[in-house]
Amino acid sequence: MKLHEFQAKEVFARYGLPVQQGAVIERPAQMAGLTLRYPVVVKAQVLVGGRGKAGGIKLAATPAEAESSARAILGMTIKGERVERVLVVPAADIGAEYYLAFVTDRARRRAVAVASAAGGVEIEAVARTAPEKIVTVPIDPCLGCPPFQARAIGRRLGFAGPLLDAFAGIAGNLYRLYWTEDADLAEINPLAVVGSTLLCVDAKLVLDDNAAFRHTDRPPSEELTALEREARSHGLSYVELDGDIAVIGNGAGLVMSTLDLLAHFGGRAANFLDIGGGATADGMRAALDIVQRKSGIRAIFINIFGGITRCDEVARGIVQDPPRVPASIRLTGTNEEEGQRILRGAGISATLDPDQAAQDAVALARAAPRP
Ligand code: GDP
Ligand code: MN
Repeated sequence: MKLHEFQAKEVFARYGLPVQQGAVIERPAQMAGLTLRYPVVVKAQVLVGGRGKAGGIKLAATPAEAESSARAILGMTIKGERVERVLVVPAADIGAEYYLAFVTDRARRRAVAVASAAGGVEIEAVARTAPEKIVTVPIDPCLGCPPFQARAIGRRLGFAGPLLDAFAGIAGNLYRLYWTEDADLAEINPLAVVGSTLLCVDAKLVLDDNAAFRHTDRPPSEELTALEREARSHGLSYVELDGDIAVIGNGAGLVMSTLDLLAHFGGRAANFLDIGGGATADGMRAALDIVQRKSGIRAIFINIFGGITRCDEVARGIVQDPPRVPASIRLTGTNEEEGQRILRGAGISATLDPDQAAQDAVALARAAPRP
């Protein structure tokens, strides 16, 4: 899960990392209520990088200028993400920009520190054009990033004196944060020289979802849509896609191949939805409800291969609240006869053949009126 800059900076502050204290607003008029030292920087809060280049970061000398910057940035779309909030912070007088991150290196099975004196630009670009400017140091998980190692990294970036002390403190704290918060990536870009000290001007945190159970105090992920969040609360794995045929299946592998099957026959899936093993009638009903609430659905393709999941349970879920748009159903496996009988009783037909069902779903979607 990715955090917004303002959320990441709240975590940074808890770990003693120096950040600018500011405020988050959703409407330009809210700027008037803030007491900040000017000039300020108005920063788009979206879960993508390169906001500066995209015009999502503006310096403002006066409250009036800040309000018009906020008006320009709020509602803007950056790399497909709409800006709903801006972070406003007192501007720092930046001398030089460095890069520092701890990132999980799966091949090495540990974190690596990645640091560079060429900060403020995308690290991927530096890696392409001047890889020698990037320092990469593996971190021993038993030792963490002790001061001697942090100082060695800082010296390789050219730091000395009080700036080296500041760098070592920041590197130690950033690793502690990375480790304690179960992050996949903890990044500062730029780590800026301001006078005789260092400041984390930007903050990026990607947290490892596999460790979410250890961190129950976290904000809900904003990467999910409202429907995706609701599906999760019903124990359903649901991901929105951009086609017009809703898909429901049991087992992630079957659902993935169902998406392929649809694509093969010229259809476009509106979603991925796995009701999971041993799904109940209630789970099936919830699944049908969720997929149909997405706008632009013209047909539904239900592909069930009963194993632990029983066809009769699935059929009961379908007939409790029959699909509101044309549906093509493939139902086979455990208790398939009972399942087929329940569907027939409600005037709903189903096939045993996935290819046939996929072709039917594509035909139904083509025949349906544009929603
Ligand atoms: P990103 O483009 O999404 O990575 O957003 P950043 O927060 O990294 O900001 C992009 C750039 O804007 C930085 O590299 C800085 O050059 C500039 N910037 C951001 N905040 C400040 C600030 O407080 N003062 C100054 N002078 N420049 C800033
Ligand atoms: Mn940045």
